[in-house]
Amino acid sequence: MLILKITIYFKILFISLINLNSDYTIIQLICFLLIGLITAHGIQLIHEIVHISVKKNQWNFFGEALGILTLTPYKIYKNNHLRHHRYLGTMKDRDFFDFHLLRKQSNLFDTIKLIWVNFKDLKSHTITSLTTSLIVYLILGFSLDNNYLVIFILSAYFLITKPAHFLIEIPEHFDCHRDNRNKKFNSRSIQNSIFLIKWFTNWNHLHREHHWNPSVAPEKLIYSDDLKSKYDFKNYLDFYSYFINQISKGVKNDSFF
Ligand SMILES: [Zn+2]
Ligand SMILES: [Zn+2]
Repeated sequence: MLILKITIYFKILFISLINLNSDYTIIQLICFLLIGLITAHGIQLIHEIVHISVKKNQWNFFGEALGILTLTPYKIYKNNHLRHHRYLGTMKDRDFFDFHLLRKQSNLFDTIKLIWVNFKDLKSHTITSLTTSLIVYLILGFSLDNNYLVIFILSAYFLITKPAHFLIEIPEHFDCHRDNRNKKFNSRSIQNSIFLIKWFTNWNHLHREHHWNPSVAPEKLIYSDDLKSKYDFKNYLDFYSYFINQISKGVKNDSFF
């Protein structure tokens, strides 16, 4: 199934890259949007590859390839993510976003700013991995007769991929207990979602079930009534309105991951 998901990712990415050259602005805009979104989806595929590669080393090749195309330094992502699984529910765990930088008086605007000015994220981009990505897109740009491809990719990454990635990841542990090893209390699942969103997030809505059994393919996870907790939400919309409500009240620093 993962091979099929990677194939779909490549098809959408390359069709969009090719059609950025279209004479119609509306098609260019759709392709720009698709590139940003499929890159966020690609990062979720890297997440699945990280778990498979623990036992099957050869998957690291796909991880590295997707890492280059999604501007994600694969080795650093892999180490950080496996550390997240190992230390979840302890103070040694640090989630993807630097929420500890927010202070009690921080508001919704500060939180939104964090999506783009994420110091941990920036630090994790080694010069080598970023340069490799840019060289690959530069070469792709020349072969597709698009001299501005690198600029399009960087713009799509900052304008679309980063906020989309934030929206995918924020429900995972936001406002859960960060100092409790019990997965019922330190992780969240979203009970349901439409198929398109499930595919786009690579079934990340069942994040607690994923922590419970990280070696199971995401699409095979099933919402567990036994693991159900008060942190769960029926759907993403319910969660996002809760998130906005909590943030707009001002940050309770220690409740963030
Ligand atoms: Zn997690
Ligand atoms: Zn994981």
